[in-house]
Amino acid sequence: MSVSERYQLIQDEIKQVCKRVKRNPDDIEIIAVTKYVSNETAQEAIDAGVQHLGENRLEGFMEKYESIGQAANFHFIGTLQSRKVKDLIDYVDSIHSLDRKSLAKEINKRASREVSCFVQVNTSDEESKHGIKPEEVVPFIESLANYPNVKVVGLMTMAPLTDDEQYIRQCFRKLREVSDEVQRHQFSYAPCDQLSMGMSNDYQIAIEEGATHIRIGSKLVGKEV
Ligand SMILES: *Cc1c(COP(=O)(O)O)cnc(C)c1O
Repeated sequence: MSVSERYQLIQDEIKQVCKRVKRNPDDIEIIAVTKYVSNETAQEAIDAGVQHLGENRLEGFMEKYESIGQAANFHFIGTLQSRKVKDLIDYVDSIHSLDRKSLAKEINKRASREVSCFVQVNTSDEESKHGIKPEEVVPFIESLANYPNVKVVGLMTMAPLTDDEQYIRQCFRKLREVSDEVQRHQFSYAPCDQLSMGMSNDYQIAIEEGATHIRIGSKLVGKEV
């Protein structure tokens, strides 16, 4: 199947899920995660109508950006080392992995405009996963008040790798609950009404639970390496 056919299929599935849960498919942004594929395949996604690309490493991010440039919005979805912020800050549309104050400080310092950031939350109890604990999200966001270039547009999470749909759903639901809690505080710099959750294997559940940004790699563009 071509990237274009897979994109069509995913869009059809999104429409079906949205119909079931009475959501508007236009409220869901598809980020094609291109970390496993070539520039050519990423370009195929763009040609098929994809508008958002996601990369989890600086090298891949720069490579895709240099190849595709203004034709897409670029999302950084991986762990971000503070010293690398300066290299991507001018090109990034949103950062989905804000997980510590020192990173917010660096983003604020290097950016010459407001940068959309998602706070990454560890909604499963796995020690290995990145992200901050649900109960620490509000105090964390409170601590960002003096970083005017950091705009907290939403929260991001990765569900655990499991076949247990109930557990996955619970993680997504948790993220939404935390986001509701943040919104009740009405921080001017943290509207926090967007949810980046759902990947190839679980985006349908994520949409049911309120995802606004789904990050799809293998199912959309495949896996070449
Ligand atoms: C790789 C990756 C994805 C996409 O994974 P697939 O299972 O291939 O869809 C989504 N989010 C993050 C943070 C990733 O690193």
